[in-house]
Amino acid sequence: MSISNIGKILSEYDISDVTVATLCSHSSLQIFHGAKKEGLRTLGIAVDRDTKFYDAYPLAKPDEFLKVKSYRDIEELGDELVRRHAILVPHGSFVEYMGADRFSKFPVPSFGNRDVLKWESDRSTQRKWLTSAGIAMPEEIDDARKIDRPVLVKYSGAKGGRGAFIAKDYMEFKMAIDYSQQHTIQEYVLGTRYYFHYFYSPLTDAGYRVKGGGSLEMLSIDRRDESNIDELYKLGSVEELKRLGFFPTFVVTGNYPVVVRESLLPKVFEMGEATVSKSQELFGGLVGPFALETIVTDKLEIKVFEISTRIVAGTNPFVGGSPYSEMMAPGLSTGRRIAQEIRLGFATGRIGEVIS
Ligand code: ATP
Repeated sequence: MSISNIGKILSEYDISDVTVATLCSHSSLQIFHGAKKEGLRTLGIAVDRDTKFYDAYPLAKPDEFLKVKSYRDIEELGDELVRRHAILVPHGSFVEYMGADRFSKFPVPSFGNRDVLKWESDRSTQRKWLTSAGIAMPEEIDDARKIDRPVLVKYSGAKGGRGAFIAKDYMEFKMAIDYSQQHTIQEYVLGTRYYFHYFYSPLTDAGYRVKGGGSLEMLSIDRRDESNIDELYKLGSVEELKRLGFFPTFVVTGNYPVVVRESLLPKVFEMGEATVSKSQELFGGLVGPFALETIVTDKLEIKVFEISTRIVAGTNPFVGGSPYSEMMAPGLSTGRRIAQEIRLGFATGRIGEVIS
């Protein structure tokens, strides 16, 4: 089997027996819950993990589990997944743990356009995409010796903020850097962090229309709880703490819901639309859920520091809907919206446009 056969594999699927499958982690409860609400079968891929906690949430427990020992073993599941007419719903952990390269070649129909991976998995191509779409991003500093303001140094890959560190000058950079990993240096933008959760549907023409066709939704917004940076201030100044051996870290431990001041919404939609339009020009287009991870400054500028091109865990507070999705349909989560798009794809004979 190869990825070029996806169209043929899909032609044998039918909405009556299609199975929504994802890795048991990240936003799987929401994905299964949404699929079940839309009457679709569900399957959880569990990699060396206890699945008992799903018993506590019967409305989100998948109909079936496939268990494997390691992430590499997922590759062996291709035939079994296709036999069950599975459509994979990739989430951040799925792609990160399986590896973007392996995932891109995995011959099982997957929700969304996999070509996006080439643009998303590298910070420099991400930057090219977003800045060429006219989106403001934090400035990048190419040489550590030129650090002239607070910066955030990040290593490559989605690690849930793990490893990133703040430096205010070259000295601090040198003290903390791990040269064995690829890194980027970004100006530290002071402001409030908002993560906007969009959904682009090429199949719908109602709602907020996008220039080239289809429609853009903004289903919810979250902000991440990050340990230990979010609580560090209680202990005193960062400088003082560094002397005592406490360093700020950005490990995501949870998410909480946000609404933004309403006057920001036009800009939020313009940014989402520009991202989608540019993606169509660059690689055939982004499909389904994506998130712009931003910082809003006190001048109300919105700076995007990262794009995530699949369902983000920040959508999890909204399993039962958000203040925004409530104005579109009751009880609409991103997970449920994915299942609706799969249904719509089959109903209109256009499922090939949302699957790759
Ligand atoms: P992931 O890919 O899982 O989203 P990551 O390890 O790639 O995480 P980032 O998301 O880029 O790292 O950044 C981690 C955290 O650092 C963010 O959640 C945010 O709190 C903060 N952050 C990122 N970029 C900036 C910036 N330019 N200025 C200030 N804070 C930032």
